[in-house]
Amino acid sequence: MLYDNLTVNEKGHLTISGIDATELAAEFGTPLYVMDEDVLRANCRTYVKAMYEFFGSESAPLYASKALSFKGIYPIVESEGMCIDVVSPGEIYTALAADFPAEKMFFHGSNKTDEDIKYGVLSGIGYFVVDNHNELEVLDRMAAELGVKQKVLLRLTVGLDPHTLEAINTGRVDSQFGVPIDTGQADDFVKAALACENISVEGFHSHVGSQIFESDSFNRQAEILIEYAARMKEETGLELKVLNIGGGLGVRYTDRDPFLDIPGRIAEIAEHLKGACDKYDVDMPVVFMEPGRSIVANAGVTLYTTGGTKEVKGYRNYVTIDGGMTDNPRFALYKAEYTVLNASRMNKSADYECTVAGRCCESGDRIAENVMIAKPERGDIIAVLTTGAYNYSMASNYNRIPRPAMVMISKGQARTVVKRESFEDLIKNEL
Ligand SMILES: *Cc1c(COP(=O)(O)O)cnc(C)c1O
Repeated sequence: MLYDNLTVNEKGHLTISGIDATELAAEFGTPLYVMDEDVLRANCRTYVKAMYEFFGSESAPLYASKALSFKGIYPIVESEGMCIDVVSPGEIYTALAADFPAEKMFFHGSNKTDEDIKYGVLSGIGYFVVDNHNELEVLDRMAAELGVKQKVLLRLTVGLDPHTLEAINTGRVDSQFGVPIDTGQADDFVKAALACENISVEGFHSHVGSQIFESDSFNRQAEILIEYAARMKEETGLELKVLNIGGGLGVRYTDRDPFLDIPGRIAEIAEHLKGACDKYDVDMPVVFMEPGRSIVANAGVTLYTTGGTKEVKGYRNYVTIDGGMTDNPRFALYKAEYTVLNASRMNKSADYECTVAGRCCESGDRIAENVMIAKPERGDIIAVLTTGAYNYSMASNYNRIPRPAMVMISKGQARTVVKRESFEDLIKNEL
């Protein structure tokens, strides 16, 4: 199977970390997000250990909250030694509500409003990752009003095109994120930031994209940023203390996706960074990375109950589920691929080709097309793997469907970490 924590028990049911998936569905209802805490913690440790080893003891991974943000995740990533990246006051609020220290937060966002900026400064955010001139001006003014000297990283675009989906490709010159080096605009941005009295420029940030397997864009990014830092040091005297090289390492959604050796990749990036530091005579900075997907994706499985099959003669077979684009919009957004299993019939051969369709009145509401599973009967439990990232965090109430519950499992025990939404929740803000 795709992952080690999945097995099949004597009843022919899928087990996740030793727990029968059909029993989880019976106890907690479906759709159900299941997160394996042990896998999640192991993913955190892989990054923490490798970054410590290859970048030194001050470096650390920041967990990119946007992949999966809810109160219960923050104590876990904190206890594993990670900082976090946040992209909105809502994520800051959630992390603060879980007692995550504000000084370990990095505040992203390409259009922070005045209120967002004020909220961030007042919360005591460790670093603002400043995206553009507009934000710089407002931040400098607000920091002055609030009597704070705010640490920042400046977000730069390095002009690289990693081979990934259009919607999650952020490193190119033509991007709404950051300020490009290639056009010369980054130079003005850096100089303007250095002239701000209430801002302390600690270094640079860049993020090339997401679900990336090839190493070339990370290696090149490291070299471009160090070369740029050397030039800025010469022109402005800026010492690069911190370099945040973003997230984006790919995960396996299907067995056609490659297996990515994370420590190996970090070692390779470190080698390129050190090489560039030697070449351009720059001191090795403290390095941060921002993994989101590769921390949570493979820890998550979503369980659905099927309403049965529908065979459209001469076309295709549909398997309907009691969730869909409302709990997982990634197929609708990017035609993302998933591995689907019939958790109730794991000992039957997976010989039924089908398209898994959700319950919304929307023909794009699908989870996967043309996948092979054991032919289900109404009531079987369907498992979709690798749903820990960008599922709950992108969920909606379209068609007035309440968001699912989430359970965290560890060592044979399951606990609810997010309650299922009720119909009352759906109308609670409506007057
Ligand atoms: C989305 C994003 C990340 C996380 O990307 P993953 O592919 O989930 O690792 C990190 N940093 C920034 C700035 C992002 O926009």
